[in-house]
Amino acid sequence: MEDFTKGKQLRLVNGSTVTVKQKLGEGGQGSVYAVECDGKKYALKWYLRSYLRGLKSNQADFYNNLKKNVEDGAPSSSFLWMKAIAVTGKHSKGFGYLMDIRPSNYCEFTKFIKAKEKFSSTAAVLKAALNIVEAFQALHRSGKSYQDLSPGNFFIDKDTGDVLICDNDNVAPNNTNLGVGGTPGYMAPEVIMGKGKPNADTDLFSLAVILFELFFLSHPLEGANCCKHPCLTPAIEKELYAVNPVFVCSKEDTSNAPVRGTCSNLMRLWPMYPESMHEKFRKAFSHEALHNGTARLSEKDWKDMIYALWDSSVECPHCKELNFADTENEGNMKCVSCGRSLPFSHALQVNGFTIAVAPGKTISEYHLSYGDRKKTIGQIVESKKNPGVYGLKNTSDVVWQVEYPEKPETYYPTDKTVTLIKGTRIQIGTKTIKII
Ligand SMILES: [Zn+2]
Repeated sequence: MEDFTKGKQLRLVNGSTVTVKQKLGEGGQGSVYAVECDGKKYALKWYLRSYLRGLKSNQADFYNNLKKNVEDGAPSSSFLWMKAIAVTGKHSKGFGYLMDIRPSNYCEFTKFIKAKEKFSSTAAVLKAALNIVEAFQALHRSGKSYQDLSPGNFFIDKDTGDVLICDNDNVAPNNTNLGVGGTPGYMAPEVIMGKGKPNADTDLFSLAVILFELFFLSHPLEGANCCKHPCLTPAIEKELYAVNPVFVCSKEDTSNAPVRGTCSNLMRLWPMYPESMHEKFRKAFSHEALHNGTARLSEKDWKDMIYALWDSSVECPHCKELNFADTENEGNMKCVSCGRSLPFSHALQVNGFTIAVAPGKTISEYHLSYGDRKKTIGQIVESKKNPGVYGLKNTSDVVWQVEYPEKPETYYPTDKTVTLIKGTRIQIGTKTIKII
């Protein structure tokens, strides 16, 4: 074991020198040290020689891929990316890479699943989901895949939903595998069966598992078929995750349905979310999507699902929990957390989107023309004089043409607020917002 002691100096390929301060931990691949470089603190992952020798790929290919990842830079700020390669001397004596130290507000996702850590709100869960999806969208757009997604690689801030994705040395160009095997339960069936190499499509399978776990704190393929075994052998895992995987919430095949007691997280959390979201997950784990990489939900599909959740959300004024409105049940909504009545009375419909009316919600270019969600064109506000009465404030730079029921047409320029009365129509360019 090539342990470095405090004060040991290593050379970075870019010419700088790092000084080892202390060992932070070790695992099957190598050790992580706290180091200092040019007066700043970093983490250094140093590979075990036995790990490098045991790689399925050529060690030089592994090194060159790491070097290329350093040169390319992080696909997005959600990756705790490698900053430089460190060597002792010649490559044959081993190597490692330098990265930023993970801030202490980020907690490993496995702790959330094991209930050792808890999100402070459902809004933070939604933000974490969006951050993860956007990170993988950026990675896949660069032509690379992660290849070994598992909850141990994700670190999340429980309050903000900010995400850091670690262990990025698995990242390689699509269909190029440098020795990473993957984690049981997260590998795509075709990878387990030896029918395909890791790529963006196999990542999409793993991403769907991670998102399911994020929302429901349980595994999408571990229901009755899993619970009947006292322990999982590699043969049982292969059956569960690759040969005959069945979605726990499948409507067609209920053989792997959730089991009371063991699957209590899922049984508690599943009903909190709307049917439209349930359908997305049923599609993501349908027989076709499980076995055919091209049938999987894309990052855009997931983003649309998360945005639809935001659009249907109504915050409970009593306990602040986020609830998801079902527009069929207007006026009767009870908070899923505290059971008290919610002030949900109507919704806006535009361009196929439905937005539950609640203070602070916005209409953006995403709703009008599938554009940028950050470019807000209208904001829902509550009347100060008449609490419970809502309006849509024009925050765009165009004049809105408004038709209230049984009133003549009125014009609303920027900063004016349209009172939201059922049956009202707001014309913005070629698009109409209907109040239902
Ligand atoms: Zn509540």
